[in-house]
Amino acid sequence: MEQNLAEQAYTGLFPGKENPYDLELVYTGRLKQYGGNVSLRGSYMEFKLSKKWRQISPEIQLGLIQELMLKLLKQKRQSMYIDLYNNFIKSLHIAIPKTKTDPQLEESFNRVNDRYFVGLVERPNLRWGQFSTRTFGTYDFKTDMITVSTVFKDTDIKYLDYIMYHETLHKQRKFFKSGTKTYYHDARFKRLESVFENGAQIEKELGRVVAKEQAKAAFRFREAKPRKRGFFDWF
Ligand SMILES: [Zn+2]
Repeated sequence: MEQNLAEQAYTGLFPGKENPYDLELVYTGRLKQYGGNVSLRGSYMEFKLSKKWRQISPEIQLGLIQELMLKLLKQKRQSMYIDLYNNFIKSLHIAIPKTKTDPQLEESFNRVNDRYFVGLVERPNLRWGQFSTRTFGTYDFKTDMITVSTVFKDTDIKYLDYIMYHETLHKQRKFFKSGTKTYYHDARFKRLESVFENGAQIEKELGRVVAKEQAKAAFRFREAKPRKRGFFDWF
């Protein structure tokens, strides 16, 4: 049955073509909810789906498997199962329990939601990520989670709100597909993003703000180290 699904996915994409692969599908508790991946060794192609997928209809699973298969094989094909899967991911946030939050992030989300979305966006899961100076924030459709770099914990709230606004736009706007490409930052997204008060100015300042936080963090790190007696610290 399980193997059948991966084989079905193949025949659906490549009708009439002989299948050269040994296709296997396993469900695992090790992936995040609604996660999935595929690996290929020789002719052995293995799909790993998170256990959560077991409860989801086979048609939608087929879409995910087909999408993974096309990515792996670098092929372009359309399929109604892939459309079903993408629609499923787009509405998933409704069903995902909101268990994670943080007071500071929630305040930021509420400010942004009230001001730019008339309070209409349902609150996603919110959490602080790592002290990342490259990725300021992310939105994960599969866990309905906004993650913000802890770089913004102590900066002026306008920076945090700016990141929050960007990620909330992702939740609200979703994504669209054309062929095998997925677009997140399309022209309309950029137009909406530019609505944020002083957004262009904030965008310019971000690099400097982040560098400053980085320097502060490095300083704290040195301070935290135990000092050797008689040793003079220069910082
Ligand atoms: Zn983005």
